[in-house]
Amino acid sequence: MAASLIGDATPTDHNRRLVLKTTIAGSLPKPSWLAEPAKLWPAWRSGGEELAQAKRDATLLWLKAQEDAGVEIVTDGEQSRQHFVHGFLEAVEGIDFSRKVKMGIRNNRYEAMVPVVTGPLRLKGRVHETEARLARAHTQRQLKFTLPGPMTIVDTIADEHYRDKVKLAMAFAELLNQEARALEKDGVDVIQFDEPAFNVYMDDVKRWGITALERAAKGLKCTTCVHICYGYGIPANLDWKRTLGDEWRQYEEIFPALAKSRIDQVSLECIHSKVPIELLKLLKGKDVLIGVIDVASDALETPQQVAKVIAAAAKYVAPRRLYPCTNCGMAPMDRELALKKLQALVAGTALARKRLR
Ligand code: ZN
Repeated sequence: MAASLIGDATPTDHNRRLVLKTTIAGSLPKPSWLAEPAKLWPAWRSGGEELAQAKRDATLLWLKAQEDAGVEIVTDGEQSRQHFVHGFLEAVEGIDFSRKVKMGIRNNRYEAMVPVVTGPLRLKGRVHETEARLARAHTQRQLKFTLPGPMTIVDTIADEHYRDKVKLAMAFAELLNQEARALEKDGVDVIQFDEPAFNVYMDDVKRWGITALERAAKGLKCTTCVHICYGYGIPANLDWKRTLGDEWRQYEEIFPALAKSRIDQVSLECIHSKVPIELLKLLKGKDVLIGVIDVASDALETPQQVAKVIAAAAKYVAPRRLYPCTNCGMAPMDRELALKKLQALVAGTALARKRLR
């Protein structure tokens, strides 16, 4: 292996020294025997112990599929949760799920029926213990686990108790921290907080969003990451993207503040987006998970397309800090296509490594 491909980790562990390690934003499609396919809020196909078993089976299936595709930092594919925010909320006391109110979320980009905070928030117990321990027991690879970020949670729930966005966010951040510390004990290597709301409320990010995120990550010794995207490829998001103009500069406002934060990694949307790539230089000192796979398109990326995005990013971020990744979660995608996209991610990264040599 050429010297330029070696990072600065321990010399005995080949995988840890490899540069351009591949990973995914988090979610993967649920098999049709687990939940309705191609939906963001899919209905489960079964219940009780049968559902619990199906979730475990799907988790193992996707771990193996990621390994076979050659992905280096793997996830549980979020097979055990119905939605990336509500999977966490279901384990929280102080929320009335029987009462759902209509709320405009992501600055009224779309409306959703959301539950209501009606009392002090408290975790009922562990949230993701089963799937984290299962995944840890069945892969030797580095394992990443995702949680929703506090600002995005606050933007996806109604509140009649705290009556203050920042107080509510800090209350959720404490609970997230409790679960994150437990996930670290379960042997998770990377904990990622998903904050699509960071691209919507840029002033609030600087005022309190990053503070809440750091509260959620407090005391963690494992790698910490924040995923900030322009959302899944659903029509409301595609329409919104059309209003953002020729250059998407949302990241420019928040990157300097993120660069000063204690979060280790930032996961970004890049391929087929209008994000000016030179904005990456504002993330000095951070690892960058660069989106090289479009989750909003059924077109399969070629290795050349993937390698081209990596090469462009490598002008602004040292290769040892670059992690080729998907733009966002793959939850609503066709299962076979998602698998092919994982393979394209790995093939394109292999080509990029060759070119960097
Ligand atoms: Zn995303």
